[in-house]
Amino acid sequence: MSTMTVLHNPNKELRVVSEPVALDRLGSKEMKKLIKDLKDTMKEENGVGIAAPQVGVHDRVIIAELEDGTPTAFINPEITERAFKLVDSEEGCLSVPGCWGIVKRHRSVTVKAYTEDGTHVSLKANGLLAIIFQHEIDHLDGILFIDRATDLRKTGSSRI
Ligand code: ZN
Repeated sequence: MSTMTVLHNPNKELRVVSEPVALDRLGSKEMKKLIKDLKDTMKEENGVGIAAPQVGVHDRVIIAELEDGTPTAFINPEITERAFKLVDSEEGCLSVPGCWGIVKRHRSVTVKAYTEDGTHVSLKANGLLAIIFQHEIDHLDGILFIDRATDLRKTGSSRI
């Protein structure tokens, strides 16, 4: 198990817009290592999602815990459809310790991405997974939940 240091706000690395991953890196040893390290780090921090820029890597790679609890990598993820309906989501962030808040998020989203083995997928997510995708893809664009949140406070239970 090899974990990486999670950067904390206001580290300016968190504000960098990450670059798309070149397709010839999909399935490479180097990409597999990054994904494994991100999964290990997420687990160590007891999170349900993490994005590469949170460890200072500006590749468009996120890990999301699926409904069955499996941490899964999504490379170059893009939201292609958003539900019109918004929901109030209680969120925290591994990069903003000790802070939680309410963020308006789309109730469901459709995401297209590459998986770890280079397969192109499109999936519709609801509930917590939809929130994780929106939160983690924001990280790839240098956006933190505190930019969008209302009612910031020092207690909460979210592990996003
Ligand atoms: Zn976060």
